[in-house]
Amino acid sequence: MSENIIKSDEVREYLRQQEGREVTLDSIRSEFGVSRGTKSFDAVRNIMYQFAQQRTVKPVGKRSGVYKVLVQVQPVKVFGQEHKSGLFNLVFPKDRDTEMEFSFAEDVVIREGDLILIAGVSNYGKTAIAMNFLAENIESSPVLLGNEFTSSDGQPTPRFVSRLESMDWVKWVNGTGEDKFTLLPVMSDYPEYIVKDRINILDWVNIETGEHYQIGTLLSEIKRAVGKGVGVAVIQKSEYATAGRGGQFTKDFADLELLIDKHGEMESRLTIGKCKESTKSLTGKSWAFGIFQGVKLVNIREVKKCKRCYGKNDSCPDCNGLGWVDK
Ligand SMILES: [Zn+2]
Repeated sequence: MSENIIKSDEVREYLRQQEGREVTLDSIRSEFGVSRGTKSFDAVRNIMYQFAQQRTVKPVGKRSGVYKVLVQVQPVKVFGQEHKSGLFNLVFPKDRDTEMEFSFAEDVVIREGDLILIAGVSNYGKTAIAMNFLAENIESSPVLLGNEFTSSDGQPTPRFVSRLESMDWVKWVNGTGEDKFTLLPVMSDYPEYIVKDRINILDWVNIETGEHYQIGTLLSEIKRAVGKGVGVAVIQKSEYATAGRGGQFTKDFADLELLIDKHGEMESRLTIGKCKESTKSLTGKSWAFGIFQGVKLVNIREVKKCKRCYGKNDSCPDCNGLGWVDK
């Protein structure tokens, strides 16, 4: 009986399912039931040699018989096909008294797959801003992840529940009494749990090892995972810093970066740290606001640095030493 020799087409078909992974001569032989001493045994080596020449696979390091199966990339056509705008209708937090969004909202362009970063000092309202993104977009069924929302026993944190109750202008449940949002008890490995094509709110994102340069990688994975949705991620920021912890690494992947600082003793200030796309220049602009009952944003107005004293004169007639005046 004549022996059937393994064909390169069969191996190619198998490799197509292994794109991005490593294979070995032995793993291929075992996949096809090829035993030592047959003609196919040597054929596998020859076939893989050919594929390496064609750049379907790439030998890994100096180990012999180990290959990385390359992900095959096809050119993407630009002209001659219809384009979708990819615009994402994200509603920004509103002033409870005026029902108006932060005024930059009308100038920011948000597209599917964008990442909004809220980088703030402790206790000055970054969670309030995140909660207001949740509230204003509740009809889009947002997803919530992070330790502000659930505790280690997998239950909603009392603080989260109390915030929901304070936001009495929002209908949190549908007609049958079920949550309009999806709460996931996830506190690490966020990219694996992001729900694709939805608004995913992460409060907050931490690098446990303290290796802050890794936050860039993490944020890029989150961005990829949201698909046609949008990511809203909260991170910590040191006082006076112009970026979140992780510095430039955090900025790189943000499409819109909102920096939250304290504004005087009672209020908070939101500054646009980065805005990738807008109809007018927004970077560096600031808005002050008060927070009532932990979640209600009030008295939102654009502010600018005091040009008379730059915050250096406690008895400055313009700013009383705050360093900021209403615009
Ligand atoms: Zn002043």
